[in-house]
Amino acid sequence: MIDILRQKPKFRFAPSPNGALHLGHALSAILNHEMAAKAGGDFLLRIEDIDQARCTPDFEAGIYTDLSWLGLDWQEPVRRQSEHFPAYHDALQTLIERGLVYPAFLTRGEVKARVAALEASGSPWPRDPDGTPLYPPGDRDRSGAERQRLLASGMRHAWRLDMERALAMVGAPLRWQESGDGERGAILANPSAWGDVVLSRSDAPSSYHLSVVVDDAVQGITHVVRGLDLFHATSIHRLLQRLLGLPEPLYHHHRLLLGSDGKKLSKSMSDTGIAEWRGQGFSAAELRRRIGL
Ligand code: GLU
Repeated sequence: MIDILRQKPKFRFAPSPNGALHLGHALSAILNHEMAAKAGGDFLLRIEDIDQARCTPDFEAGIYTDLSWLGLDWQEPVRRQSEHFPAYHDALQTLIERGLVYPAFLTRGEVKARVAALEASGSPWPRDPDGTPLYPPGDRDRSGAERQRLLASGMRHAWRLDMERALAMVGAPLRWQESGDGERGAILANPSAWGDVVLSRSDAPSSYHLSVVVDDAVQGITHVVRGLDLFHATSIHRLLQRLLGLPEPLYHHHRLLLGSDGKKLSKSMSDTGIAEWRGQGFSAAELRRRIGL
């Protein structure tokens, strides 16, 4: 942490171009921009487009239009994740070589069915902080020879972190420094709540968790400012940073905006899109007031 404070502050806004930006994104982008300015640092932009099936050039173009309309400028070049798959592959390879990840052959549907069957017989199955059932054991316990045989057969697979081994390797508890709108101070990370997280899928060469820690390091990010919905994911990020020998940024998880139904805003809610606001003739200043800035 001391090292971080000696560096030039670098903040980033990291949207995924899989939908139009909404007011929650505006809040995040403006906070990052303001905090960077106040700290005399840089504001960087990262396009998180690893999910090539859902991300489109039109949504990406919309991000630049919306941010410019909000009056924000960012440092070039923009980092586009789809241009850096080899960097994520290298990080994954490091973890494979250290025996910290394993090939996982169950599809999401198969996991769901297996968990439903277990729960039908009366034993509740643990879920991660996002409500997704933890990956069942089985693949983790295969012998090296069996793994090789299945991989050689061309069976589709994801790569999952062996959480138990990873935690054993790290040893001491991990923490992060938090200054956001929820719990503050030195937060104790709890990565095991997530079970064996996916680090790469057969249809996407990297996961959000793996690419975000690689990119924050490559871009020299000192301050991660993002919504409270990613607070618990920070536990995974701290673990991956430690395993990969990456620096630890400071974290600030800000309040989330709620829609009229009291739920978190989502990209499918057209009434809260930045472009809709602009289209209805509102000014950027009015938008700022609407989101409490
Ligand atoms: N790409 C993520 C999102 O759109 C943000 C990731 C982050 O800020 O760490 O919600």
